[in-house]
Amino acid sequence: MSGSKDFYKILGVSEKASQDEIKKAYRKLAKRYHPDANPDDPSAAERFKEVGEAYGVLSDSEKRKQYDQMRRLGAFGFGGGRGGPTARPGAGAPSGGAFSFEDLRDFGGLGDLFSSIFDRGRKTTGGERRRERRKGQDVEYVVDIPFETAVLGKKVSIEVPITEECATCGGDGAAPGTGLQTCSECSGSGEVSFGQPGFAVKRPCPACFGRGKIPESPCASCGGRGEVRQNRKISVSVPKGADDSTRLRLSGQGEKGAAGGAPGDLILSFRIKPHRFFRREGLDVHVTVPINVVQATLGSKVKVRTISGKRVVLRIPPGTQSGTRFRIRGQGVEKGDRIGDQYVEVSVEIPAELTDEERQAMESFAEKAGLRH
Ligand SMILES: [Zn+2]
Ligand SMILES: [Zn+2]
Repeated sequence: MSGSKDFYKILGVSEKASQDEIKKAYRKLAKRYHPDANPDDPSAAERFKEVGEAYGVLSDSEKRKQYDQMRRLGAFGFGGGRGGPTARPGAGAPSGGAFSFEDLRDFGGLGDLFSSIFDRGRKTTGGERRRERRKGQDVEYVVDIPFETAVLGKKVSIEVPITEECATCGGDGAAPGTGLQTCSECSGSGEVSFGQPGFAVKRPCPACFGRGKIPESPCASCGGRGEVRQNRKISVSVPKGADDSTRLRLSGQGEKGAAGGAPGDLILSFRIKPHRFFRREGLDVHVTVPINVVQATLGSKVKVRTISGKRVVLRIPPGTQSGTRFRIRGQGVEKGDRIGDQYVEVSVEIPAELTDEERQAMESFAEKAGLRH
């Protein structure tokens, strides 16, 4: 039996649910969280797994009996743990009827599941909640941008997965040519209540997503959800000098609003890909350039590429040590009216292999310079 999960909560059924109710709840949730219906939503896959796990236990009367007993003992740290772990077996058995604080807590947990389902959906704060005009959700999306694109600025085409109203059914979840019927779970009110009068907790109806109506025959494109997740192609102007902290708000490019509400915004943030040679620190660009031992010793001129594609001649003075840094002014990243510099660090490469002739030359150099070897 697995961990600390409340299988009743996961299936959204009461402890006294019949096998039929459990089966019904499982089918509904399995359909909703099926990976095929939620290709871009890893949390749905997680839910789908949990739902299967919960059903595996609760649909087997023997396993369910064992699970109920441990649950009552509070072995999982939730639910009916009225007596705590030291209570006698059976001591916490539901007395039937009485509505306790524990029940409320359970329902509260159930509410979490529901509210996450309804996060993208209808408002849950009292009053008129069905088909309420509502602005669409803002969508946040991270885009990977090549190093040079971010430095120089450029128009790029990206694809963003966005939940849109299903075009096949127009958002009502019914297969074309079929209608809607009043939801039997909530009798069309769009909400269900738990507990007793006075203690009742109202929640959007999980069977109809708070709409009060369910499709006679669910739309095949969206599985009756009324919305689908699609990749939307968007052209974005990456501003010159963009970095990991750059945010772009594209007004009206988020999720569609409900019942004629305005769409939300798309908020893009950038993740700049590293470059093979260049490194950025603020507006400055750093690069390491290899030079040989003769260039370092006698001095030289080397050509260095800048981020804008220019080649700049860098003078290496005689006696340059490995690790020395040179600055090329104004060749860094440009952003607004500011521009950074390019720093070039030289790395002196020592030959790994010498011919006999080279070795002799090296030895005679050493002798003349008074170097021990
Ligand atoms: Zn549809
Ligand atoms: Zn309903």
